[in-house]
Amino acid sequence: MAADLRKLPILKSSAVGAPMGIRCVAVYESYQLKQFTDLGLAEPILRAIKTEGYTAPTPIQAQAIPIMMSGKDMVGIAQTGTGKTAAFVLPLLHRISELRDRPIANHCVALILAPTRELASQIADSIRTYGSAMRVSVAIVVGGVKPGGQIRMMARGVDVVVATPGRLLDHVQTGVIKLDRTETVVLDEGDQMLDLGFMPTIRKIMAKLPKKRQTVLFSATMPQQIRSLADDFLNQPSEIAVTPTSKPIELINQKVMHVDRDQKRDALVGILRGHGVGQTIVFTRTKRGADKVNEFLQKAGLSSGAIHGNKSQPQRQRTLDDFRSSKVKILVATDIAARGIDVDGVSHVINYELPNVPEAYVHRIGRTARAGKSGIAISLCEHSERGLLRDIERTIGTVLERDTPPGFSGQGDRQPRTAERSVSARPNNGAADRPYKKFDKPKARPQQQQAKSRKPHRGQASGRSQSPNSGLQRLAS
Ligand code: AMP
Repeated sequence: MAADLRKLPILKSSAVGAPMGIRCVAVYESYQLKQFTDLGLAEPILRAIKTEGYTAPTPIQAQAIPIMMSGKDMVGIAQTGTGKTAAFVLPLLHRISELRDRPIANHCVALILAPTRELASQIADSIRTYGSAMRVSVAIVVGGVKPGGQIRMMARGVDVVVATPGRLLDHVQTGVIKLDRTETVVLDEGDQMLDLGFMPTIRKIMAKLPKKRQTVLFSATMPQQIRSLADDFLNQPSEIAVTPTSKPIELINQKVMHVDRDQKRDALVGILRGHGVGQTIVFTRTKRGADKVNEFLQKAGLSSGAIHGNKSQPQRQRTLDDFRSSKVKILVATDIAARGIDVDGVSHVINYELPNVPEAYVHRIGRTARAGKSGIAISLCEHSERGLLRDIERTIGTVLERDTPPGFSGQGDRQPRTAERSVSARPNNGAADRPYKKFDKPKARPQQQQAKSRKPHRGQASGRSQSPNSGLQRLAS
């Protein structure tokens, strides 16, 4: 039996969504829903969840599933790794299980839009997993592959289309898929989709959907300007959030290592060879950068593969599969390619270059510490990236721990104080309202490191005699 929402305690009400005109019905206390059986999901879905070994819904699932099952629009703000895919897939499957007829030719019951091909493919995998005990048809509609298979699948009619916006619009325009009977549309990683310039395409797709529909927007981060764009597509949505926006997962041990530009390669190799480093994702800002890093890692005898937007889809999938199966230990990725990566057991995320957009930092580090595990995120910050680091710290509301091992220059080690000042100097950026315990009491840095920060000479860095990698062993764990 479905949980009776009216009997649940309301913890927060309309104020949550007020700035964007959201009428928030309620945010329900998740411990009220401890069992999947309390959510009213169909029996084959419960069976599949049990097979997966899930014992209880995650907080985002406990909140999102009842709202989605009620047919209301919803904005779900959840960090990566919180189980948000199942939060929207399970109620969609429940709806499909209620339908008696097969899907109509060239139509779909539900549409899920994702920013990258990998994420679309991963969502489709989740649908197949959670729908393994029932009849459900899924079409993955993404670019980079021949359209023939997609066309044939959609011509028959499918329950769920999981798509990236560009390729879907192609099929909509040629009439291969008609969206006029689609009941639910889910925008996953909505902020990124809107952010990455998909807006015009998404508008065209949304215009083809019936006015009477359910629209759900999921996102790990939700900057204000993206919120107002989202408002165009949603009708009085309920808003749920399991953690404050832009707060990275607590289980991630985040560190910053200040290095000179020409030290980054040594630093990276040193970290990767460190004790306790398992599957690792290394992020670069550019596709060329990813290729270069991959090349020198391979030359250094490390097992790595690169994934970015210039690689063909089969190449991307192959590299990701190799990483997933641990055939390749290190994945070098750009932000765009990183979106869909959900690999269990990623022990480290290394930002070889800091992202230009602070929210991307949250997404990057969310690739580790998934499903309740812990993880380590190390950012290699060169002098010219200090501004980016400040932006990140402002966004996540904390000053990251500095950990520059001996032998590396630590040019930017005056950073903590700078960041402290710059955050408190910004009166109302949201973050400034929070109590900054870490800013109030900056961590004492190791003596050696403090000494370095007093003498930040470039040339000082290359002193190999100081055995930089021994320090990196410590940093890696
Ligand atoms: P997501 O945030 O959707 O990327 O999910 C992160 C990970 O959590 C995935 O590997 C899921 O298999 C796992 N997961 C999702 N829901 C649950 C649950 N209720 N219990 C345990 N693990 C889960």
